[in-house]
Amino acid sequence: MYDKCIAYLNQRGVQLEDIAECVLFLQKEYHPQLTKEKCLQAIREVLHKREVQHALLTGICLDLAAEEQVLDDDDLQYILMQDSALYGLDEVLAYGICNLYGSIALTNYGYIDKCKPGIISELNKDHKDTCNTFLDDIVGAIAAASAGKLAHNLDQPSTRKKETSLHQQDEPNSQRTPT
Ligand code: MG
Repeated sequence: MYDKCIAYLNQRGVQLEDIAECVLFLQKEYHPQLTKEKCLQAIREVLHKREVQHALLTGICLDLAAEEQVLDDDDLQYILMQDSALYGLDEVLAYGICNLYGSIALTNYGYIDKCKPGIISELNKDHKDTCNTFLDDIVGAIAAASAGKLAHNLDQPSTRKKETSLHQQDEPNSQRTPT
C-alpha cells in the first residue's frame, strides 16, 4: 500500500522531495538545523500510516475519476473539475490526515493552504483537463502532518534549544508544543 501511494503521488507529478520542501518551509523558522533528509524521513513515516494511505487513495482516485469523466453525477463532475471553493470536502479529507498529528499539524495545514508554497501552488494552477482538487490538500496535509511530527520529536529535552522560539503565538504559523 505504501509503495502504491508513492506511485500515485509520482504519477500525479508529486515527488517526496517536493513535499519535503514544504515541510522545510513550515519548520525552518523553528528548527534552523532541520535537514531535507529529516523531513523526508518524517514524510515516509506519515505515509506508512494506514489512515493517511486511505485518505490519499480516496482523494487521488476521485481526482482521476473526475478527470476521466466517469463520475456518476454531473454536478459533482463539474464541481471537482472547477475546483469549486465552496465544495470543501477536499479540505475535510485533509483534516483526516492532520488530525492524526495534533494541533500543530492542523494549524500548519491552514497556514500552508493559505501560503501555497512550491508544489502546492503548482498543483493549484489552472491545468486544463487536469483535476487536482483533492491532491493539493493531500500534499499540504502530508507536509503539515510531517511538520507536526517533527515539531514534537525535535522538542525532546535532549534536542530542545532555549534560543529557538517555539511559542510564538502571535505568528500566523505559531505552533503549540507539549509541556
Ligand atoms: Mg483542493
